[in-house]
Amino acid sequence: PQVGMISVSALLKEAVLLTESEALMKGCQIHLHPLQGDMAISVDVKQMKQVILNMIRNAMEAITERSDDYTGTIEIGARREGAEVRIFISDNGKGMDICTLDRLFSPFFTTKENGTGLGLSVSDRIVKNHGGCISVSSRVNEGTRFVISLPLIQ
Ligand code: ADP
Ligand code: MG
Repeated sequence: PQVGMISVSALLKEAVLLTESEALMKGCQIHLHPLQGDMAISVDVKQMKQVILNMIRNAMEAITERSDDYTGTIEIGARREGAEVRIFISDNGKGMDICTLDRLFSPFFTTKENGTGLGLSVSDRIVKNHGGCISVSSRVNEGTRFVISLPLIQ
């Protein structure tokens, strides 16, 4: 892994820039919340960007699967929590039932016709390799929120 220092806001801005136009075409708005103070993390930037991009794409897909004519919103932001940063990605897409929540991080688990089921299992491993963790909360027909916790550079 190629570890480097990056600010959380730069990481999130780049991920949003890469997904914004695709999101708009699919009827989703992405709202990047301004961060309070800058926070630096020491990560493999390529891998961590992949984690954020995977989650944004999952959010878009959850919004389009909900219904065709639905205005979806993806909220992205981060806040400091002690020695950690918590990055959140939440959507008002179709949400998940308990069965899906239980198997979310299993390799090859997918509910999509053309899904690989690898995005979240790989993301979970990447985040754990960086000393962090991913948590998720979701409600059917309401939406989903992923939180990535990572150690901050002190
Ligand atoms: P894939 O996207 O290829 O299906 P993932 O590992 O990225 O694989 O996701 C696994 C499954 O988790 C998805 O098929 C979907 O059922 C569920 N999922 C992931 N993110 C969301 C989300 N934001 N909203 C609803 N379901 C989700
Ligand atoms: Mg995925």
